[in-house]
Parts: sequence; structure tokens; C-alpha cells
Amino acid sequence: MKNVLLELTRIVQAVALLNSPQEQVKTIVDSISQVLRQDVCSLFRIDDEGKAVLLASHGLIADDYASLPAGQGLVGLVVRSKRPLNLANAAIHPDYYDLQNSNERQFKSFCGVPLVRSGKVIGVLVVQSKLARQLSDAREAFLVTLGSQLTMIVDDIPSHAQQPVASNKSISGVIGAPGIAVGKTQLCVGMSVQNAPDGVCDDPAAEIRSLHKLLLATRKSIEMDKQLLGQEIPENVATIFDSYAKFLADSSYINKIELEIRAGHWLPGALRITTLYFANIFKAMDDPYLKARHEDLEHLGNKLLEVWSGKRGKISANYSEQDSIILVGMQVSVSDIASIPPAQLAGIVCFEGSSLSHSAVLAHALGIPALMGVKEIKDLQSGEVVVVDGYSGQLILRPAKAVLSEYWQIFRRDKRHRKTLQALRDKEAITTDGTRVVLMVNTGLLADITPGLKNGAEGVGLYRTEIPFMQHSSFPSEGEQIEFYSEVLSAYQDKPVYMRTLDIGGDKQLPYFPILHEENPALGWRGIRLTLDVIQLLVTQVRAMIRAAGKRGNLYITLPMISSLDEILKFNELLDNVCKELDSEGYEFTRPKLGIMVEVPAAISQIENFREHIDFLSIGSNDLSQYLLAMDRNNARVANRYDHVHPAVLHEINRIVRTASRCELPVSLCGEMGSDPVAVVLLMGMGVRQISMSSAMLPDIKSMIRMLKISRAKSLCKRAMKLASAQQIRELVEPELRKIGYLES
Ligand code: PEP
Ligand code: MG
Repeated sequence: MKNVLLELTRIVQAVALLNSPQEQVKTIVDSISQVLRQDVCSLFRIDDEGKAVLLASHGLIADDYASLPAGQGLVGLVVRSKRPLNLANAAIHPDYYDLQNSNERQFKSFCGVPLVRSGKVIGVLVVQSKLARQLSDAREAFLVTLGSQLTMIVDDIPSHAQQPVASNKSISGVIGAPGIAVGKTQLCVGMSVQNAPDGVCDDPAAEIRSLHKLLLATRKSIEMDKQLLGQEIPENVATIFDSYAKFLADSSYINKIELEIRAGHWLPGALRITTLYFANIFKAMDDPYLKARHEDLEHLGNKLLEVWSGKRGKISANYSEQDSIILVGMQVSVSDIASIPPAQLAGIVCFEGSSLSHSAVLAHALGIPALMGVKEIKDLQSGEVVVVDGYSGQLILRPAKAVLSEYWQIFRRDKRHRKTLQALRDKEAITTDGTRVVLMVNTGLLADITPGLKNGAEGVGLYRTEIPFMQHSSFPSEGEQIEFYSEVLSAYQDKPVYMRTLDIGGDKQLPYFPILHEENPALGWRGIRLTLDVIQLLVTQVRAMIRAAGKRGNLYITLPMISSLDEILKFNELLDNVCKELDSEGYEFTRPKLGIMVEVPAAISQIENFREHIDFLSIGSNDLSQYLLAMDRNNARVANRYDHVHPAVLHEINRIVRTASRCELPVSLCGEMGSDPVAVVLLMGMGVRQISMSSAMLPDIKSMIRMLKISRAKSLCKRAMKLASAQQIRELVEPELRKIGYLES
């Protein structure tokens, strides 16, 4: 405490840099508690009726103080006496006011100093600690000195800096990760590469040298972010950081920046142009997963700019150790997430982004809710209490006490429910009358492997190989493909992994393999049609899959977009040749089983013709619905009409299941229907016994199946087939889900 004046100056200077009164008072209390090494520091304003209003606190829960009566308690005594009060054990003082249910009881000592202006006490500054020890004279003097400085600031704080009035305003977003969180907002308002200014570069060679230094420093910074979160997330989720690092080393990315520098742009300008160039390629894609990758490019551009400018990350540590933090921002990057202690990170809210953002993937892995694409809230400040409802997709601002307590209840129930679901991990998905269903996961991201296994997946029902392809900057070699296929095949060991050959074209494009404009891409050069034309691509892929599986025997190859026998025959010929080739090269392997996606309606009537040449069928309900309903599954204008439980879709799926059974072909389903409980009841009623879905939904669907009777599913399915709309069908099945206790009544 030697440098009282220095500390004082530091705090006052830091406060002067902040614009928002809320941030100012929060910084004051945080700094004082840090300097004096006290567990709590609180700043009260005394209003005209003598009531002490908590402006900010490090360590106390603000809401508990809303009910503190005027003039009561030790704060009231400081106001009346206009003198400091320094106690080792506050609870034994006759004026001690015991606030029921507050977190204050754990703090023993109390030292409060009045903030006096023109003879009137306008505020009280309080520090408290868990130790029953009086504050030293020097520290008390420091507090008094600070108090006199603070008087001006407190007087200047407009009344809206006080705890905001409850409004319960709720704003909708897209669910990025499920769950409930109650916490304090921390705004991520960092540098945006989109706003990087233009500047002229006179010495391109020197600027290029700076670029390479910057790339190196940014890679190091990303590695640090990874280490910070490393223990909290599965290793394969941490590969998100690796993919950022890979992009930083990517030659097409670096070449483009260098090109812009040589064209006369300084480094920030070149970064902006390059980032936007690559981000726009992804943005233009229709496939939601690939589209979402533009965010990664922008995060990376922002990060580069931050490192270049020497400015620290976006988050000023404006919260106490007890706070649960909700990160809020236009985009919340993985670096932002890494900058908050994992135990305190409670939720994520982004004004942009989709459920496929890497921030959402990380939120899933960390088990916290995330809302994406929430309409921007201009006046939101750091430190506001909000609720993130990751079930209904709502962000609730300024929740009233009653609403908060309701959400706390859901939060606790949720915790118990998760434990129950987790307990189902090794239990079978079996109906109450004994029908067993095999539940698998859809994946493509390495990040999804662990959650799938953790949630009790019995295999991978659909591995979308185009996803690892898009994480590369050019076609991955046979060796590189072996690497990523091996990860999933070995993680699932003896469990089946259904790998689909590259399904690009249409709404899924690879940035390094642009498909020239097509009038009607959904009906164009895509899936098996494309890969059979670029045959070497398919040969390399099949070789890599078989070599990665070796003699494990758990590889199943699925062909996308099959519409005619001819395509299956061509692929079988290719498979024969690849097997012969690998054999002659001395590789040991088991020939994989071969199946097709039933997603083009034309395939349905051909199943009997396909029978002899394939081993299984996998229903792709996403494309099947879009082609049957003639509705683009990604077109927001028809989104309200698109429903996979449309009677036309159900009738065709029923036809597929009956034909498959007649042909003795195993049939499974891997589209989004598998994550929809209503659809699952109907599919089970039709006889589907293998379903693949997102790993997050698996425990939930399993719990539903374990409450269901197959006889009920069959009779509901029969009745559904006679109905004329998706809405009627949902209205038929939902009451049953309530009756069995899966949905709340
Ligand atoms: C489908 O079409 O249902 C499917 C699972 O494939 P994708 O969504 O990858 O097109
Ligand atoms: Mg499909």
C-alpha cells in the first residue's frame, strides 16, 4: 500500500477511459477489491429516500439487495454517522441486517466509508472479506481517499446506471447448442477485419516480411487459445484450432495477401481484401455447413488484425470470479471463448452465425447453451443479467426475479435430466414392449466423434466425407484421407461406420473445385453423377477408405444421389478394380459392404432391380423430402411449408421400408427426420429399426423410445397415413408423446 497515490491514479485513469457508467462503476469495484485483496467491494448510491441502491459489486449478487430497506444495516449506519465503519466480524454488530438467502453471510469483515458531497452522504463504498480481520489503518485510509475521489464519479452517474428495471424482453435466435444459462453479459467488441482501413504500401518486400512475422505470431496465439481450453474440450474438438492454424499456413491464402501487398495495399488492407474474398466464396454456397465456414475466415481475419495492432483480445476482464459469464457479440470467436475461465463460461449469444458455426460446436462440447443469429441489441452493456434459453431459442433481457427463479429451476432440473440421460448411455434403445432400435450418429467433423461415443452411439450411420474435404484447401491426398478416415474408424472400433462417397455439387461446393453455373444445380452435376465422371477422385477416395479400415470390417460404403442401376454397376466395377489393385499391392483388408442413399425419388421404384448389387439402403430424408415436395430445403421462403412428416413423404418412406423388407435389404434412415421425435414414432411404426441422427439428439430420442410401445407406434402410423397434412399428423402424434411422459403436458 506504499503507492496509494499511484494506485489511485491508475484506477481513476482506467475509469476515465470507459464510456459506459456501468462499466465505470464495475471497474472501480473490481480494481479496489484487487488492490486491497478483499473478496467483496460494493458501491452503493443513497437515493432521495435514503435507500441504498447497489450500483455495482465485485462479489455480491446485485439482485439480493433490491429489498434492502432504507436506513437499515451497516450501510445505513455509515450513512447516518457519516463516518467509516471498520469491523472484524460484522454479524455480531447490533446494526447488522441479515439478508436472507443472500451470499453475504459468508463474508465476515466489513469496512464501509461514506461518500459525502456538500455535507450529504450520496454513497457508501464497502469492502468485505471472508477473514474476520479489520482492515489496517493504511487500507482504511486508502479507502477514504478513494471515496473522496469517487464522490464526483458517483454523482455523475446517470440514474440508468442503476440496476435496470425488469422488462423480461425476449429476443429470438437460432439454437446453436441446447440448455439454460443465467449469467452476466460480457460483450465481445473487438476489431473487425471488415473495417480495416486502406493504406498505401511503399515497400512491399518489408510489408511481406511483416506478414510472415504476423502469421507466426498469430499461430502462436491460436496455440495458446487451444491450450487454455484444451483440458475442457475433447481432443477432436480442439482440432477446430488446428484448422485455423492450417489456414494460416495455406499457400492460396498467403499468396493472395502477398498479391494484394504487391498491388500497393498495406498489410491491414490486404488482410481485409483477402479475408473477404475467401469468406465470400463460402458465403455464396447453399450448403449450410459450408456456408457457415465464412465465419471462421472472418474470425481469423479479425485475429490477424488484433495481433498486428498489438491490442489484446476483445474481452476486458470486467467480471468477478463468482460471475457466470454469457459472451455476447456480433460473432463470438473460439479465441473469445478461450479467454473466459471454462468454469465461469455459462452461455454464448451471437448476433450473426448459424447453428453450424464453430462457436456452436464448441458450446456443444463444453455443454453450455448457445444462441445464434439473435437480432442485434444496440444498448446491451457488459454486466447485465440475462437468461439464455437454448431450448426455445430465446434470449431474455432484464429478467424479473420470478422469471429468474423459474429459469434456475429449469437449470437444476436440466442438470438432473442430463444425468438421467447420461445414465442411459449404455442402455439399449428398446420400447416398453421389447422392440430394439439401433441408434447411430451423423458426422463428418472430427469434433463430433467424442460426443457421439459419449452419448452411446452404436456406430456412425452417415459420415459426410465432403466435410473433411472442405476443411482442406485442395483435394486431400490418399494419405491425408487415410488419416481422417482412420480417426473415425478406429474410434468406433467394432461398430459400423457408414462412409458416404463425396457428395458435392448442387448446394455443396468445394472452394477449390468450383462447378460452373448451372441453371438448376439441385438437379445437376452432383453426388455420384459427378464422382463417376471424375473417376480418379472416387478411386483415391475408395482406396483411402479401404486402407483406413484394413481388416477391422466396420466399413460400409454409401453412394449418394443414386437414381439408376447403371450408377451402381459402374461403382461396383470400380470397387472390384480397387480391391484387386490393393490386393496386388499387398494390403490386407476386408471388402466393405455397399449400399445406397435412397434420396432421389427415382430410386424407390428401382430397389428390386438394385437388390442383387447392394447390401443395404439408407434413407436420406432431407433430399427425399425436398425432391418429393419440390421444395428447396434451404430456402427460407418455403421453410414454413417444408415438413418431412408431410403425408407424401411418409407414404414413400413406407413404400421403401416395405420393398426393402420384401427384398431382405437392411434399411436405415439418416436424414433430419431421425432427430424429430414425432417422425421417429412414425418411422418405428413403419418398421425402421436403425436410425442415425446428430449426437446431441441421441440421448433424447433414446429416452423417448424407452417410454414408447411399438404397438402404439404402429397404430399411430396407420392412422397418420390416412391424414392429409403434416400438421394433422403432428397433432395426432404429439398427444401420445405427452401421454408417455416424454413431452410435458
Ligand atoms: C439426406 O439427404 O437426407 C442426407 C442425409 O444427406 P445430406 O443431408 O448430406 O444431403
Ligand atoms: Mg442428401
